[in-house]
Amino acid sequence: MADPNCIFCKIVAGDIPSEKIYEDEHVFAFMDISPLSQGHCLIIPKEHAVTLHETSNEVLSKVLPVASRIVKAMGISTYNLLQNNGEIAHQAVMHAHFHIIPRRNTGEGLGISWQTKEGVDQKTIADAIRSKF
Ligand code: AMP
Ligand code: ZN
Repeated sequence: MADPNCIFCKIVAGDIPSEKIYEDEHVFAFMDISPLSQGHCLIIPKEHAVTLHETSNEVLSKVLPVASRIVKAMGISTYNLLQNNGEIAHQAVMHAHFHIIPRRNTGEGLGISWQTKEGVDQKTIADAIRSKF
């Protein structure tokens, strides 16, 4: 179901213009309006859901193959695939989406600051996840 207040639902419906790359029954892909690098584009499930985990697995399984096809069509081999969930994680548009951000050199595209956290008990967390799977 589309959300009438959602900008990406409006793009899927054609009510807001976009530079469309690809569309099928479940997936829509278009160029990002504020690109971080040449070729920065977005792949979205057509169904409205805010986050990855609220999107159906059936539709999710259709999204990554489209990402792979777009990468090959662009002829790039270095890129970031980015998917933000929630405001704290820098999600600005509340309709689940995947970014492809080409990286042709180290200064271009997404800046990543990798801050390792000390003292995290990974085994306990893994045990908790395994028990609920
Ligand atoms: P995020 O921070 O992951 O929610 O990223 C949202 C992305 O959507 C940003 O890269 C925006 O530039 C992009 N965006 C927002 N509005 C539009 C639009 N109308 N057409 C294309 N891209 C958009
Ligand atoms: Zn939406």
